[in-house]
Amino acid sequence: MLSARGLRKSFGDTEVLRGIDLTLHRGEVLVLIGPSGSGKTTVLRALNGLETPDAGTITVDGGPELDFAPAERPRPRAQKQQRLALRDRSAMVFQHHNLFPHLTVLQNVIEGPWRVQRQPRAEVVAEALALLDRVGLADKADARPHQLSGGQQQRVGIVRALALKPDLLLFDEPTSALDPELVGEVLLVIKELADEGWTMAVVTHELSFAREVADHVLFLDGGVVVEEGPPAEIFRAPRHERTQRFLTRIL
Ligand code: ATP
Repeated sequence: MLSARGLRKSFGDTEVLRGIDLTLHRGEVLVLIGPSGSGKTTVLRALNGLETPDAGTITVDGGPELDFAPAERPRPRAQKQQRLALRDRSAMVFQHHNLFPHLTVLQNVIEGPWRVQRQPRAEVVAEALALLDRVGLADKADARPHQLSGGQQQRVGIVRALALKPDLLLFDEPTSALDPELVGEVLLVIKELADEGWTMAVVTHELSFAREVADHVLFLDGGVVVEEGPPAEIFRAPRHERTQRFLTRIL
């Protein structure tokens, strides 16, 4: 459903992505692993239009190819439209949930579908309540984010993404800001979504979770995909010495 080719991105003099290729099939879970600073977050941000690559192409569902360095000079307006087209298709769950502190849980969840997507409020509320119920938070609809645990807040973050009905869910280290005892409840929700057939790309340092949930794993280092394959191969028999070193250090 999504294919990216030759993605490049620099911040100042630092080349953060140096030609990333990836393919994400519908219903598949793609997991990105790699050392800190290897470019994982930047890849996700490029896939949902938060970041404009300097070069490369992204194609979604066989639609028009978004070319970030076309032969003619890139036009800022066209690039913005390309980014917005990507953003409409995907929803991202961040490391820090980024909930609005002054809104209730329910208000946080309906904000996107109601105010941005302009869906009818009553429908949006009903769907939001059903989603909150699904993740065990029906009774927290009227609470403010600060009244919830970190794990509960992150589950609201996930519900907020689901409420947008995206084609693609992106998770950027969704558990790395949580106390260890709260990690499991969030991973469980993500695992259930994967089992339900959501298409997702997940950046995580939780390697046992990655092994369990991934259909395909990318190992990034220094802005390139060093190795990729099914989790059984990457985790049990990595071919590349850099992957081996990373896994022995982290496991
Ligand atoms: P981590 O696991 O630590 O989150 P990562 O693999 O997700 O790392 P990125 O967050 O993609 O890596 O960052 C890659 C590099 O790009 C880092 O050196 C980071 O400092 C730099 N970088 C990312 N975003 C920006 C930005 N907006 N401006 C300048 N440098 C940036």
